[in-house]
Amino acid sequence: MLLPVRGAVIDHSIRAGMQEYSAFKSALLRFLPVFFLAVCAIACTPSWAQVAPTEAEGGRGTVADRGLDARVESILRGMTLEEKVGQLVQYSAGQATGPGTGRDDYEDMIAKGQIGSLLNVIDPKQIMAYQRIAMEKSRLHIPILFGLDVIHGFRTEFPIPLGLASTWEPAIVEKASHVAAAEASATGIRWTFSPMVDIARDARWGRIAEGAGEDPFLGSAMAAAYVRGYQGARLDAADSIAACVKHYVGYGAAEAGRDYNTTEISEHTLREFYLPPFHAAVDAGTATLMSAFNSLNAVPSSANPFTLTEVLRKEWGFKGFVVSDWSSVGELVAHGIAIDDAMAARKAFTAGVDMDMASSLYHDHLAEFVRAGVVPETEVDESVRRVLRVKLALGLFEHPYVEEGRSEQAFFLPESLELARRAAERSIVLLKNDLVKNAPGGGGHALLPISPQVKTIALIGPLADDQSHPEHPEATLRPKNGGVLFPAMLAERVGESNVLRFKGAGILDGTDAEIAEAVAGAKRADLVILALGESPEMSGEAASRAHLGLPGRQQELLEAVVATGKPVVLILLSGRPLTLPWAFEHVPAVLAAWFPGTEGCAALTRILYGDVIPSGKLVVSWPRSVGQEPLYYNALSTGRPAGEVDLTHPPHDTESKYISRYIDEQNTPQFPFGYGLSYTTFEYGATRVSKAQVSAAELNRALAAGTKAAALNVEATVANTGSRAAEETVQLYVRLVGTSTAQPVRALKGFQHVMLAAGETKTVRFELASEALAIWNASNQFAVEPAKATVWISPDSARGTGAPVTVLP
Ligand code: BGC
Repeated sequence: MLLPVRGAVIDHSIRAGMQEYSAFKSALLRFLPVFFLAVCAIACTPSWAQVAPTEAEGGRGTVADRGLDARVESILRGMTLEEKVGQLVQYSAGQATGPGTGRDDYEDMIAKGQIGSLLNVIDPKQIMAYQRIAMEKSRLHIPILFGLDVIHGFRTEFPIPLGLASTWEPAIVEKASHVAAAEASATGIRWTFSPMVDIARDARWGRIAEGAGEDPFLGSAMAAAYVRGYQGARLDAADSIAACVKHYVGYGAAEAGRDYNTTEISEHTLREFYLPPFHAAVDAGTATLMSAFNSLNAVPSSANPFTLTEVLRKEWGFKGFVVSDWSSVGELVAHGIAIDDAMAARKAFTAGVDMDMASSLYHDHLAEFVRAGVVPETEVDESVRRVLRVKLALGLFEHPYVEEGRSEQAFFLPESLELARRAAERSIVLLKNDLVKNAPGGGGHALLPISPQVKTIALIGPLADDQSHPEHPEATLRPKNGGVLFPAMLAERVGESNVLRFKGAGILDGTDAEIAEAVAGAKRADLVILALGESPEMSGEAASRAHLGLPGRQQELLEAVVATGKPVVLILLSGRPLTLPWAFEHVPAVLAAWFPGTEGCAALTRILYGDVIPSGKLVVSWPRSVGQEPLYYNALSTGRPAGEVDLTHPPHDTESKYISRYIDEQNTPQFPFGYGLSYTTFEYGATRVSKAQVSAAELNRALAAGTKAAALNVEATVANTGSRAAEETVQLYVRLVGTSTAQPVRALKGFQHVMLAAGETKTVRFELASEALAIWNASNQFAVEPAKATVWISPDSARGTGAPVTVLP
């Protein structure tokens, strides 16, 4: 894929008056304990979960399907201990996506029933060859489950997950995942290691590219959408694949943004921020889940009984299986919680990791543990049941093979490409579009959309097409299905001879001559389009960065081109937000295009020319400088918040000094979470609430009963004050004060898309569910507490007029 990640693969990539307040406070102190007692371990189904068929409904077509039980037991009864262990073993038989084990005797092992799953095999013939061995030569004929990192498309590439999330449109994510499932399954791959639902607050971490950003509410909506898309209505449909939600859990909090690094996350923070997307995915019926690499509060995630067994199995009732991350079982030795491989295998298994990816340690030690009485065979049986359940639910026993030639017929279908284009268009975020004096077509206009007066365009930069990066065509702007390149797309608008193309610099290198040539070319054009940013290898796994500016000589190129005085549109292609304060000050128009996928050229061209109006909004706080990281909007207030103090200057008195700030940088991001411009303008009216007071006791009853009744309605008018019809993503935020645990200064609790004609005003209404006012309290229970709430309907996380609501006991 386009993440240097594997995945999509491979030829490709293979990867929130004083009197009133006092009364409120004393009531709060009186009633608080009652609330803690009254609300015990409330199991509620959040609004994002569109639940898969439940167990009570028979869970048909899911891993919870009771109809599978008898077959599972019958297969299990016939298995030897070694064959059972075999089902819990997985190796990579294709391009390695981690350190190897040195084994490659897979055919022999499959014939002996020693392998339950293979990953990274992408050639359908090879897949079928392995499957034939399992089905014909192994004693029990248990099919192999083939897995791969199909992360944002298999052959038809969608924008990277960070881009897909920037659409704020779970429906598009669901459809894109379904296309990915259809293409992958046609190749024989029935399992994807996706979605990555790790909350990421630090742009240094390269894997921020693979997730839905920093917010648990949006992240949960996206997590559930991916699962629904991959798994379809039924897992055993020919075009469905099993999802694998990863990386459980806390991996995104890697200290200093350095991949694989240690994480320290309190149970409260875990439950409030990091666990919700996983819970959403489990409620949506994910068949599998992957245990993470990171050490979590000193207990590595791949040997953590609290997260893997207490929370996942006992609290959430997860029925699928857990696979380790690549060699994360073996890595328990390096973490220092295992003296040797055997101890590592025992700790991972007993904590709740069912399948061992790539370390071979279950293969080497599990049977011996059972014989020695260290691990009860009943526990092995339980893990095997889970794996068999997934294989049976997928219909793999009935349909282990794919027909030859099916894969080609499934790739790049016109409707898939159309969806990829729409997803790309909606993923692009317009960060800046200033009025410029020298805009072609007359001064005082915004540079975008491009005016018909623009006759000559200089297209500059290493990412403007693919020439400097031929090995990763899909990552930049070359459609890998042979579609039209970016320069050619622009040529369709202004004529071929009017598109002046200059590399200007490489991604990591460049010469004075290249820069000079680009500058000379810019001078000959009416408009300059600069496509700059990162190569795909600079984000994704093992791609943490300590510097978040433009790599190589690209900043130099940018400044030289801007110095020509020509109007410049900057297209940023990257797997993360980049710290570019100079650009945001000096370049009039900037688009964050992430890595837009197969239809990226078409999407960008249509946005540049205004055929489509940008609607993407940021799902990460865009930093001004690396020193601000980790940076996220839903932070807790400190005891010394900066408030209204002007942080653009160093502190000069006591008030501006002894507050939570930097002496050399602002606290605010360059662009806040939820931000994104349009070619029109929107004006928001004040937020209004249907009730000024609600009762915590009533809301807790509703939570316990699982009723979906709204706690209150919230509304605001949104007006399109510009001259073009356009869509706006309207956001709902809440802050709670007076609660037993400190709550974020704002937390997203809803969003909706509204289409407004030029000059049109609509009232946008949200129903605020009880759970939107519930918190993880000081007893680690999810409950509504008496509080003072503020509710905002706003265009992003930094604006809007809040309305007060009192949550009475
Ligand atoms: C990554 C996972 C991936 C696995 C298999 C690991 O290195 O962390 O996200 O699914 O490899 O490729």
